[in-house]
Amino acid sequence: MTFALTPFSPVADRVYTAVAEPATVTVGLVVGDEAALLIDAGSSPAQGAEILAAARRVAGDVPVTHAVITHAHFDHLFGLAGLAGVETIGHRGLAATLAAKRPPAEQLAELGVADADVVAPTRSFSLATTLDLGGCYVEIVHFGRGHTDHDVVVLVPGRGVVFVGDLLESEGGPWAGEDAWPAEWPKTLDGMLGTLGSGSVVVPGHGAPMSREDAFQQRAELAWYGGKAEELYDANKPVVGAWTDGGEWPWPQGQSEAFLTTAMRRLAEAGRPKRRTLPLLT
Ligand SMILES: [Zn+2]
Repeated sequence: MTFALTPFSPVADRVYTAVAEPATVTVGLVVGDEAALLIDAGSSPAQGAEILAAARRVAGDVPVTHAVITHAHFDHLFGLAGLAGVETIGHRGLAATLAAKRPPAEQLAELGVADADVVAPTRSFSLATTLDLGGCYVEIVHFGRGHTDHDVVVLVPGRGVVFVGDLLESEGGPWAGEDAWPAEWPKTLDGMLGTLGSGSVVVPGHGAPMSREDAFQQRAELAWYGGKAEELYDANKPVVGAWTDGGEWPWPQGQSEAFLTTAMRRLAEAGRPKRRTLPLLT
């Protein structure tokens, strides 16, 4: 497993991103007049410490006081134990997720992380919380379930930037694992999309920053995939074999099949009756 971190580079006035390997995760930094905030912590405590040190170099005289963890996936959370002296913030569902299911031993071994070092943020909230960084307010909001049941969006309205975690991904489409909530995902995004202006910079958890139009486009794609999942579910068709490489499907096969698999499982778990479809439409 190769760990690496790019330098922080600006995406707006005193707002920066860096990319951490092995998961090509984007971490953020917002520097106010009196305090600075990190967004996400990387994949191991050592990487978290490296991110914090790099952030301190960029922030200069302004102390890095807080970090928001967007959700419990390893590439965003496992660096948290390396953020010494920083108050960490997450949705209360993050702590609940960790309490309910510890990370798999193989994953920890692969990353060289001890189970005891995978900890929840020190401060949690349910709907929203704010931070005053000095001349820069940050709003930290849970708009609903999507990529996980505890995704957090960090709004920096004064700087025109929004950090969306893995609710969006600019390369190949977002990833829906077993813990995703595909049917609710587009509506969750609507809350965030409503805050954007024409020049807003949307920073996804993976890939380059997106425009407002890019974000709207991916929201539409998520809804399209939701429709596809219902179509397959109603027709009793499997996910395997549905995807074709002809340009109709917006995302690559892996992302497409992962989303459909979880979406159809959620429909079955909810006991959604199968709708009869006309022969013409099958
Ligand atoms: Zn994730």
